[in-house]
Amino acid sequence: MSNKRDYYDILGVSKNATPEEIKKAYRKMAIKYHPDKNPGNAEAEEMFKEAAEAYEVLSNQEKRSRYDQFGHAGVKGGPSGFGGAGMSMDDIFSHFGDIFGGHFGFGGGFSGGFGGSGRQRVNKGSNLRVRVKLNLSEMAHGVEKKIKIKKYVSCHECHGSGAEKGSQPTTCPTCHGTGQVTRITNTFLGQMQTSSTCPQCGGEGTIITDKCKVCHGDGIERAEEVVTIKIPAGVNDGMQLSMNGKGNAAARGGIPGDLIILIEEEPHPELKRDGSNLLYDLYVSFPDAALGTTVEVPTVDGKVKVKLPSGTQGGKVLRLRGKGLPDINGYGKGDLLVNVNIWTPKSLSSEEKKMMEELSKSPNFKPNPSAQDKSYFDRMREFFS
Ligand SMILES: [Zn+2]
Ligand SMILES: [Zn+2]
Repeated sequence: MSNKRDYYDILGVSKNATPEEIKKAYRKMAIKYHPDKNPGNAEAEEMFKEAAEAYEVLSNQEKRSRYDQFGHAGVKGGPSGFGGAGMSMDDIFSHFGDIFGGHFGFGGGFSGGFGGSGRQRVNKGSNLRVRVKLNLSEMAHGVEKKIKIKKYVSCHECHGSGAEKGSQPTTCPTCHGTGQVTRITNTFLGQMQTSSTCPQCGGEGTIITDKCKVCHGDGIERAEEVVTIKIPAGVNDGMQLSMNGKGNAAARGGIPGDLIILIEEEPHPELKRDGSNLLYDLYVSFPDAALGTTVEVPTVDGKVKVKLPSGTQGGKVLRLRGKGLPDINGYGKGDLLVNVNIWTPKSLSSEEKKMMEELSKSPNFKPNPSAQDKSYFDRMREFFS
């Protein structure tokens, strides 16, 4: 196993072969060494597997560049889960769809060949989608929601088999349980043995002669189920979570689909969201801003008190650290940015008018911005760059 052959050598292509050349080369090898054409030939089988492995790596840009850089060690195992020699015949045949593109009528590819083990079709249940509306507090802390969903579940009467009580599904007489029917086809590439899904059993390998009265042989029925959904802290509007196997049950004991949860944000009456930061528009009266005061600011966990110093300018942004929303990946928390707006009276009584006129004569009321009183635009640049 240690002195593996070079993948480019196996396919007989140069190191800078185009994807099209690699595909072509592999197609040639796959046809030449195909087990259906070389029954009982262990050497051909080895070549066939070797070529498939080489193609698996070289046809994938990421794996190919890792292989180019690190050789076989670069593509063994790893997060993409390519196990080198561990490639199964099913893996190999799964490529044939894109290699032969169905142009030659191979459909689902060749028969699964070795040891007569057929490839029966396994039913897969469909995915279900639900929307879950969350308020900011739930998004901030994570929440567990129980949701009632209508979906297909395994039939209670036959426990999913589709067969009437006391009877059993029987082996399909057409394909003898393999789920595939094989025939010889003449193509311009030569005589090929091809297989297709058995028309009688639809590829399942079994048929039900005595159907369950409740589900009529499908093995599934509509029902309501309460699903507990654990939503982690830090989710965003539009995010999707997926729960494996919580979707619709599959016909006759197949694999259930997934439950896809679409997160929707319930708008907060006062807080706006900007990524993991929250924004709040605070309005204070002119006297409060001039004299200084304590104000209440809403957060996802209720109100907090914030001190405004005397002489606070309109447009000042206060940053309440960590009062925003957590990052879904656990990279800390956002802030709550409080934008201070000074409320200018829209109408004045004659008495107030007089007071204002009096005040406006005082030099302290003449605008006199210093370098620290940055303009709105400068502050924006600071916060959002
Ligand atoms: Zn049933
Ligand atoms: Zn059949």
